[in-house]
Amino acid sequence: MTSRRDFLQKITLSTGLASLAPTLLSATPATNSAQQPARKLRVAIMGLGSYGTRVAKAMKDCQSAELVGIVTGSPEKIPVWKKEYNIPDKNVYNYETVGQMKNNPDIDVVYVITPNSLHAKHVMQVAAAGKHVICEKPMADTAANARKMIAACEKAGVKLLIGYRLHFEPYTRKVIEMIQAGEMGKLNYIDNYQGFKIGDPTQWRLKKSLAGGGALMDVGIYCLNAARYLSNEEPIWVTAQETKTDPVKFAEVDETIQFQLGFPSGLVASCATSYNIRFERLYAQGDKGFAELSPAYGYGPIKGRTHKGPLDEPVVTHQTAQMDGMADIILNNKTIDPPVDGQEGLKDMIVLDAIYESIRKGSAKMKL
Ligand code: NAD
Repeated sequence: MTSRRDFLQKITLSTGLASLAPTLLSATPATNSAQQPARKLRVAIMGLGSYGTRVAKAMKDCQSAELVGIVTGSPEKIPVWKKEYNIPDKNVYNYETVGQMKNNPDIDVVYVITPNSLHAKHVMQVAAAGKHVICEKPMADTAANARKMIAACEKAGVKLLIGYRLHFEPYTRKVIEMIQAGEMGKLNYIDNYQGFKIGDPTQWRLKKSLAGGGALMDVGIYCLNAARYLSNEEPIWVTAQETKTDPVKFAEVDETIQFQLGFPSGLVASCATSYNIRFERLYAQGDKGFAELSPAYGYGPIKGRTHKGPLDEPVVTHQTAQMDGMADIILNNKTIDPPVDGQEGLKDMIVLDAIYESIRKGSAKMKL
């Protein structure tokens, strides 16, 4: 019998990874993609910065998605991107002309990869132009803005997905599968952390008006999101503590935050995030076993082990797997569990808001 892992490895070898998605996604009854002529998801990237560039490069290996357009405020980037990705003039936009995309049938979706506090404005602009939207994490700077984004996309009749690339990543999925199959027994403790030492003190990530917050918004969200998908529950309370060792550099945003989550089953999660500590781990402990990924949240290769021994899953380019998976979600109405829709992004934003509120109230226990 061919195991799922064997199968993934086979398609990895034969297709250069592009088609992990069909094994991860389930179809809604209304669609039958097999009978429809296959076509690729046509993507425009908004925000041609460091992560936008990474996504564009990864999409070169996609089977189901292709980069066809750009939205940029930097005219000097246009000829470079046009040449590199064969983008026609008619698919080049700036932040003022996004609305004109309404008249362009050759773009299906815009991937918003701009600073966090601009996500709400940009997603709503794209939705008003009648295009589906993929928005980077964190979905927004507040839960209130996340709700506005969901409402705008619903009103426009377009899909809203959040760039949770790890939901498509084989090591992460293996751990989720093992937990859901009961292999760890009843889960009772999660210990997640991620941080890095941030460089350039002038960058937008250190400005509250553009970043919304600091390490928590940027990478702590991975620990929170993982606690939610590992537990398969929603937290009912949170407490949090903040530490600042460099109040000048981190005058506007958080440097290091620890937070604790309580879940209905009694499971507790302890999480930490920092712009001044390099650390990265996912750990889930149950009655019968454990799972650990370290590194767990970066671009990989992810490594991991469980009580059964080392994990050995296919190593993928996260953004290639993500975009192929998202193509299936958008074009063929597939779904993935854990989901990557706007509601999933909102659930994280609600807890992020509560973490900041707990800190403002002297580490108060916040009910969720
Ligand atoms: P970046 O600074 O490298 O790029 C940001 C882009 O936004 C630039 O092209 C910039 O020109 C553009 N932009 C538009 N309006 C702007 C404004 N008013 N001020 C500043 N820049 C403006 O940042 P990045 O690292 O690419 O991050 C962009 C987004 O992607 C963030 O939301 C971040 O959280 C997310 N991200 C996600 C991952 C992931 O693994 N999923 C990794 C890195 C970044």
